[in-house]
Amino acid sequence: MTQTLKICHLYGNLMNTYGDLGNILVLDYYAKKIGLKTETDVISIGQDFDASRYDIVLFGGGQDFEQKIISEDLNSKKAALTAYIENGGVMLAICGGYQLLGHYYIGANGDKIPGIGALDHYTLSQDNSRFIGDIVIENREFNETYLGFENHNGRTFLGKDEKPLGYVKRGHGNNGEDGTEGCVYKNTFGSYFHGPILTHNGVLAKRLLTTAISRRFPEFDLQPLTDLPIEESRYQVDAAGVKKVQN
Ligand code: GLN
Repeated sequence: MTQTLKICHLYGNLMNTYGDLGNILVLDYYAKKIGLKTETDVISIGQDFDASRYDIVLFGGGQDFEQKIISEDLNSKKAALTAYIENGGVMLAICGGYQLLGHYYIGANGDKIPGIGALDHYTLSQDNSRFIGDIVIENREFNETYLGFENHNGRTFLGKDEKPLGYVKRGHGNNGEDGTEGCVYKNTFGSYFHGPILTHNGVLAKRLLTTAISRRFPEFDLQPLTDLPIEESRYQVDAAGVKKVQN
């Protein structure tokens, strides 16, 4: 019987800016190549999040409007989501989702939208401005470069146990001040990258899958995944910035 990885698309019906859903398609693509299936549930307003059921959680971005709507509901999932993260569950949180895993987000109109504080960051707003454009960061731990597109009002400041996903080479990142972008805490990754992040950064997709597979199926031979070539991004970075190299 084919082994199946269970993916939770948290508030997938409300939080899916710029097709963040594509991250799930990328995970499914690589999983199939090594003989695994994926199954995805959208878990949204009024539904329980059962931490034991899922191998990967995707929490996408959204507008302030949707963030306000889900903020209250999210509190009812706080204990389960915090336990999932603390126990090393694999999670990818993008932009608005990333903000709400932290303590709070001050929206563009000054309203404070509570997060669940599962991660130790907080997010302020900026006056009549947004961080928009191509972004390139460098992950120094893995010596990897990631490409993406950012569009956010929020300025996020990391807590002491969080590492940045990378350091900004081009663009704004978490707050436009301290040179960091995104966060890594245990097996949870936060980022402002849309694009979606995993389409341009297959190496990250493979890392999420490797971690999730070894947690759920410790006997699974990971060598085929290690050997699997990464789909080339259609974009490249050079001194002039990000450019498209293929159709
Ligand atoms: N509404 C949030 C902000 O503007 C998140 C945006 C997003 O998810 N793209 O910062």
